[in-house]
Amino acid sequence: MVKDTKNVSFEDLHLSEDILNAVKSAGYEKPSPIQAQAIPAILEGRDIFGCAQTGTGKTAAFALPIMQKLESGGHYPKPKQFRALILAPTRELAEQISSNIAVYGKALKLSHCKVYGGVSQNPQVKALAAGQDIVIATPGRLLDLFKQKKLSFEGVEYLVLDEADRMLDMGFLPDIRKICSQLPAKRQSLLFSATLSPEIQLLAQSIVVNPQKIMISPDKPTVDKIAQRVCFVESENKLNLLEHILREHMQDDDDAIALIFTRTKHGANKLAKKLSSMGIEADAIHGNKSQSARQGALNRFKQRESRVLVATDIAARGIDVKDMTLVINYDMPEEAETYVHRIGRTARAEKNGEAVSFCSPQEVSLLRAVEKFIKKSLHLSLDNPFHSQIAADMMAGKRGKVADYQRPSAVKPQRRQGGGQGNGKRRSADDSFGPSKPSRKPKGRGGQSGEGQKPSRSKPSSSRGAGSKPSGESRGKAKGKKPGFWEKMKAKAFGKKA
Ligand code: AMP
Repeated sequence: MVKDTKNVSFEDLHLSEDILNAVKSAGYEKPSPIQAQAIPAILEGRDIFGCAQTGTGKTAAFALPIMQKLESGGHYPKPKQFRALILAPTRELAEQISSNIAVYGKALKLSHCKVYGGVSQNPQVKALAAGQDIVIATPGRLLDLFKQKKLSFEGVEYLVLDEADRMLDMGFLPDIRKICSQLPAKRQSLLFSATLSPEIQLLAQSIVVNPQKIMISPDKPTVDKIAQRVCFVESENKLNLLEHILREHMQDDDDAIALIFTRTKHGANKLAKKLSSMGIEADAIHGNKSQSARQGALNRFKQRESRVLVATDIAARGIDVKDMTLVINYDMPEEAETYVHRIGRTARAEKNGEAVSFCSPQEVSLLRAVEKFIKKSLHLSLDNPFHSQIAADMMAGKRGKVADYQRPSAVKPQRRQGGGQGNGKRRSADDSFGPSKPSRKPKGRGGQSGEGQKPSRSKPSSSRGAGSKPSGESRGKAKGKKPGFWEKMKAKAFGKKA
C-alpha cells in the first residue's frame, strides 16, 4: 500500500504503459490521494471500501486498475454477459463514468456500454447481447433487463458501487440487494461513498470482504477549496438576490457559469424561464425531462451556450463541468447530506469554487442541519442587499420558536422588520419570483456581535457577527487571479478596490 500519497506519481502505482499514456492524455499529472491509495490495492485484488469527498478523482481510482486487470485477463465476455459492473445512482453519473472510461481506454481493446432508464432499451439490449467488458448501469434499468432475460450476471468479476450513499438516499437498496444476490460470489467488489453513515457501513459489510478501507477526510465531507457562504433572504427576494449575484459573477467573465439548485422540478423550470427572460440564458435539468433533453441542456451548459443550469438534486449528481466556479443553493437542501453532493459540483479536480446558500426564515432548520452535518459554520455573505434579518435572528436563536420552523410547511406567517417588503404570507420556493425591493444591509451574522449564539458558533474563524473577519478574505488571496465575485463583494462591503 502507498502510505505517503503526496509524492506518489502514476508511475509508482504499477500501472501498464497503455494506462499511463491514457492518464497523461487525460491531462492528469499526479494521482489524487484516493487514486494513490486505491489503485495499488485494487491491482492486488483487494476489495475496497472508500470514503472520499466528491470530485476527488474516484472514477479513475476504480476504473484504471479494473481496466488494466480486464485487459490483462485476456478473455472475451460471453454473449449477454459482462466482466465488470459499475453501478451508479443516476444517468448523468453513468454518462460521466462512461465518458471517462472512453478516455482512459483509448489504447485498450475493451468494450463498454451504458444501461439506464429514460431512453429506449433497444440499443442497450443489442450491446448487451454481444457481451461487454464493462457495463455502467443504474440499478432500475439493469434489473428490468435482467427480468426480461436480456442479460446475465454470471460473468461478473468486478463490482463497483459508486456514490453508494446516494443510491441509498434514492431508495435503491432493494435493487442493489437483488443485483448482488445474482452475482458470482467470487468477485472483487469496490464500494465508494462520499459520506459515511451507519447505513453505508452496514451495506458495505454485506458487499465487500475484508476490504482495504480508504478514508479521505471522512470527518470533513466538504471540499476545503470551496468557499461556502450563506445569504439570509426572504423567499420572495430570492430571485432578486440571484440576479444580483449572477450579474456580478458574469459581468467580467464571458465564460463564467453557475449551477443552481432548486427543491422542485417545477421550481427549476420556472426559475430557468425567469432567468432567460431577464437575459441570463438558463436551462433546467431534472428527472421529468427526457434523457436527451437532460444531455442537451448539459452540453449547452458545457459549451457556455447557456450560462446557468438550474437543477434538482437527482439530475445534478454526476455533473462534472470544467471550471464551474459557482454553485447556488436557491433552496436549501432537504437532506443535509445532499448539501455535500450539491456543492461538490464545483471545485472539481482541486480547483477553487464558491457555494452560496440562500436561507429563508423557513429554511433555518435546514441550514442548522447542514452545519451540523459538515461540522462547520457557513460564512455570512457580507454584501447581500436582500438580507433577511428575521432569518439571521432565527439562526442566532434570538427570534421565533424553533419548533415552529422545523419544516417549511410548519411556518407561521412572519412580519418583516424595519422596512422589509414581505407580505406576511407563507410562500413556497416555487412562488418566490415576484419583484421586491432590497431590505436592510446585513450587520453581520445574526445582525449583532454573535450574542445569543451557541459558543461553537462564535469562533473567530467562522466570520460570525460584526466583529469577525471579512468572509471573502482568505479566499481572495488563495485565488491569485483577477478579482472574482467574492473579492468584488468584499471590496464593496469594505470600500476597497478588489
Ligand atoms: P471524479 O471525482 O472521478 O468525478 O473526478 C473529478 C474530476 O477530476 C474529473 O473532471 C476528472 O477528470 C478529474 N481528475 C481525476 N483524477 C485526476 C488527476 N489525477 N489529476 C487531475 N484531474 C483529475
